[in-house]
Amino acid sequence: MRILVVEDEKALAGLVADRLRRDRYTVDISNDGEEGLDNALSGMYDLIILDIMLPKKDGIEILKELRKEDKEVKVIMLTAKAELEDRLLGFGSGANDYVPKPFHIDELAARVNAQLNIGKAVESVLEFGDLILDYRASRIRCKSNNEDVGINNKEFQLLEYLMSNPDRILSRELIYDRIWGMDSEAVSNNLEAYMSFVRKKLRLIDSHVSIKTIRNMGYRLEYEE
Ligand code: CA
Repeated sequence: MRILVVEDEKALAGLVADRLRRDRYTVDISNDGEEGLDNALSGMYDLIILDIMLPKKDGIEILKELRKEDKEVKVIMLTAKAELEDRLLGFGSGANDYVPKPFHIDELAARVNAQLNIGKAVESVLEFGDLILDYRASRIRCKSNNEDVGINNKEFQLLEYLMSNPDRILSRELIYDRIWGMDSEAVSNNLEAYMSFVRKKLRLIDSHVSIKTIRNMGYRLEYEE
């Protein structure tokens, strides 16, 4: 899942991003309000962490404009305690939660997890065909023979994205943006490399799920009984 952090204190933004990446989220950072709003409106994010005091455009304005377009994306506001009261207005305009500054980084991570786990709290696995992706154990398992194998973070994110969009063709760009981030320095052949790791692991557990390459279009997850 993908998170946007809109925060002008670069050290704090970096700290938040690093902590959330440890929980396997893909994280992008915007350091001012205008860029933050543009990115927030891209529809790419599952959750946005939004500071209030920002250069160019403040967090409350961003939230209001965002909610005109997108009612679904989760928003957690960050705010200094002193601002809280007169800013409470902002929470009426559609924030899902707020975290007063200064906060403990683990508390913010817990709030993020709580927001994103709503509705799937009971499910700790994702299924497609005979394939099971186990969130807690970071493993994939084949239902028909119970063979399983461990997967690393990127492989996990890749499979999670594919399994969440079964039978849909996902372009390289879409997958790349989703998993490596817009400003990633990763080289583009990383995607092929991880596709090949994941395919090997699917074969290793004898799953009938496979990743098909659709020429000039992208990739699609398929299941053949
Ligand atoms: Ca700020």
